[in-house]
Amino acid sequence: MEKRISGHTGLMGLFGTPVGHSGSPAMYNFSFQHDGLDYAYLAFDVNVEQMPKVIETIKLLNMRGGNFTMPCKNIAAELVDQLSPAAEIIGACNVFVNDGGVLTGHITDGVGFVKNLELNGVPVKDKKVVVLGAGGAATAIHVQLALDGAKEVKIFNIKDEFYERAEGTREKLAEKCLDCLVTVEDLADKEKLEEAVRNCDILVNATIMGMKPHEDVTLVDKSLFRRDLVVADTVYSPEKTKMILEAEEAGCKAIGGVGMLQQQGAVNYELFVGKKMPLEEYQKFQASQTK
Ligand code: NAD
Repeated sequence: MEKRISGHTGLMGLFGTPVGHSGSPAMYNFSFQHDGLDYAYLAFDVNVEQMPKVIETIKLLNMRGGNFTMPCKNIAAELVDQLSPAAEIIGACNVFVNDGGVLTGHITDGVGFVKNLELNGVPVKDKKVVVLGAGGAATAIHVQLALDGAKEVKIFNIKDEFYERAEGTREKLAEKCLDCLVTVEDLADKEKLEEAVRNCDILVNATIMGMKPHEDVTLVDKSLFRRDLVVADTVYSPEKTKMILEAEEAGCKAIGGVGMLQQQGAVNYELFVGKKMPLEEYQKFQASQTK
């Protein structure tokens, strides 16, 4: 790395708190080095109150791009100069790109999710999708599905604070994406859930259920799985959740959350430098480090 840094090296970075655990610096720095691009990517631990200064600093230091993570994604959307359509609907951004001092905020969780489905041979256009969850990842998925032409997005969530958020998303999408029917239901209504799963093309889990320490939990009974149903999970730890394993057993196309994570990184990289990320090479490098 020290050989790469020069007087010309451009800075990119991640802002939020905590950031120490993030895999982004390793992934982007590997990719810059691999592609011979003169950038370095660092993580900066900042809180919401510091965000106005962060935005000034990004412009002052002429940072090309970077990421915002929790808890700074919402305030970032208020502070950047313009937003992508998805970031505008959601009111949050996890990526910024700096074009000559103009900061554009994007949100790429949903893009990464849809791209990963497509790479697995599942286009979302005209599809009926049931999404379990209405948190950060789920909301990005609801919006991207609607923007990318899904016919129906049926949101199921427990009656917690995220339920109201789902109703807000439904209202916004009713204005912006006229061709997509979005509904919100209580996840506890087993009859409605069963009916929706029986009638959909793609079932998505975007809740924390299935993730450690809830790895024994699945929200949809496996008796509802049929061979022509696509089952996708956002959870990537464990790599295969109980829902994914049961879907595989039932002969469904089952798509875990790791691909979404990787595709999100790749989408961000393309926004930063306009090139395809050397994802396979990075994965090989990672594997060689854990041997
Ligand atoms: P969040 O805290 O914003 O949302 C949590 C969601 O889980 C809400 O919908 C909430 O209602 C639901 N939930 C909580 N307890 C529940 C219960 N007992 N039963 C049913 N639902 C319950 O979280 P988030 O950041 O949106 O993350 C959600 C999931 O998405 C996590 O598993 C996370 O690992 C995953 N994720 C994956 C990626 C990826 O790239 N693959 C990216 C972001 C998040």
